[in-house]
Parts: sequence; C-alpha cells; structure tokens
Amino acid sequence: MLNELNICGIDPQSYLLLKKGSKPAIRVGLVKSWIEDAKKSAHKLGIKIVIKEFKQIYGQNLKDPKINAYYSLDEKLCRKALQTEEEGDREKFGQLLGYPECCVDNFIKNLPSEYTLISLQNVKTKPSFYCNNLFVFDSKLRDFDIPIYYKNLEMFDNHDVRNLFLVRHIPCSFDCEHSIRIGKMTLKLLKDNFPDLAKNIVNVLKRPVLYWNYFEWVILKGHREDDIIKYDGIIDYESLIKKDIKNMIAGGNNIRIKDEKIMVFNNKEKIGEIPRKNNIPVCIDFQ
Ligand SMILES: [Zn+2]
Repeated sequence: MLNELNICGIDPQSYLLLKKGSKPAIRVGLVKSWIEDAKKSAHKLGIKIVIKEFKQIYGQNLKDPKINAYYSLDEKLCRKALQTEEEGDREKFGQLLGYPECCVDNFIKNLPSEYTLISLQNVKTKPSFYCNNLFVFDSKLRDFDIPIYYKNLEMFDNHDVRNLFLVRHIPCSFDCEHSIRIGKMTLKLLKDNFPDLAKNIVNVLKRPVLYWNYFEWVILKGHREDDIIKYDGIIDYESLIKKDIKNMIAGGNNIRIKDEKIMVFNNKEKIGEIPRKNNIPVCIDFQ
C-alpha cells in the first residue's frame, strides 16, 4: 500500500483519515510523467482521482504550470475540491481537506506570515506535540522562502522526513483543541496500520525545539524546566541551521535561555553562546 501511496503523492496519515471518512478530500501536486501511474495506483487503493493543470491559482499567475491531483472516496468531492480552488475559496477548500475552521480562519487572516511564530504566540496552555508541524511546508512558504525550499528539496522533501507529522494543516495555535483531536485520531490510525512510523513520529515530535525559522531549528532530546533545557543529544534531522551552532549544541547537555542570549553548557562548563534577537531563537517545548 505504501508504494501506491508514494506514487500518488499521498501521505499515509491523509489516506487513513480519508478512508475513515474524517477527511473529505486530499490535494497533492504531481509531475506530468507520474499522472498515469498515479491514476493506476489510485484505482488500486480504491480512491477517485481528478487532475487539473493550473496556469493561475488564487489570483496568482504561475511561471510554470502546476498540476494538482484531487483524491477522494467520491469523485464528486474531487471535483468540488478542484472547483473551490479554481474559485479561490480558501475557506471552503480548507473544509474539504477536513481542516478545523479556526485554523483555516487563522491562516487566511494572517496570510502571508511566519505561521510557526503565530501558532506559538496563540498558545494558551502548552504546545502539544500533536500540533507540531515543523516538517510540513504546505501553504506556509512565502515568496522569498520558496527558492530556499526548492534548493534544499533533498533535505526537506525526502522519505525520512516528509511524513513526520500528525496534523497536516497549520494549527491556529500549538494547543488548538480541534487540531489535537485530529492529531490523536491520526496517531491511533497510524498505530493500527503503520506502528513503526507512529513510534518514530512521536519520538521526533514530542521534544523541545530551538527554532529560528521554517528552515533553521534544532530538536533536543530532553525536557525544559523554566529557563533551562536539560538534554542528552539532538535528534539528527538536518535543517539549514549553521553547522557550528548545531555542533556546539550537540556538544552540550544543558541550555540556559535568557532574553538576550542562549548559553550552552556541558554540565557546568560553558561551551558557547547564541545571541537572541526579538526572542529568536524561541524554544518550543512540544509535550
Ligand atoms: Zn485551530
């Protein structure tokens, strides 16, 4: 099944939610040479597919035409999803992807933004790992981010990392209760169907993260107590964070967070400092 999903460009999470009836439709971008294979694989998976090439979308003219595939259990819903995108109706389209209304509204209201910082700012309780979407780039990237993303596609869109999430949408906050509900449902489906993937996802997402921007972060194997993070190494998924900073953090085992800087220690010995500007890097303690 994973092979067919790969050919269709669908992640296991979205497929399981679709099959369960908790997600009306899925949209993915496809390259032309994959269309015929995607149609065959969709048939094998028992789902419908509608394909459309866009030269313009959401009021933007595209330099290169973009091919979208819309999948659903019901062909009518594929067509409806396509139609809402053609009409540029983000609200309805978000509903068709099964995204919470609060999150869709937050996305539209703040377009375009650094959404991770907004999701963090809106937290009222604690950041939940169910809402950790560090590894998902859909709809987040702004004009100046897109070339960086494509230049580093092998790092950000490879098999190891692109399925590391429990919610695919941008949560309005990292403790959005509707997103947490979807994340819990997704984790249960993954445990029942792809237990190894489920385990790996939780292992990566339920961690404190030092976060600079969409492409620069370090995930720590540890826990936060007030302004101190005690940790035992870092999770080695690459980001674009500078190697010297990454190595310095990897060489320590506790970090002290001050307003103007972050200090890195190995036991009591200070091994380095990272300056902070406007609170960046932030520590997001996903629990
Ligand atoms: Zn929400």
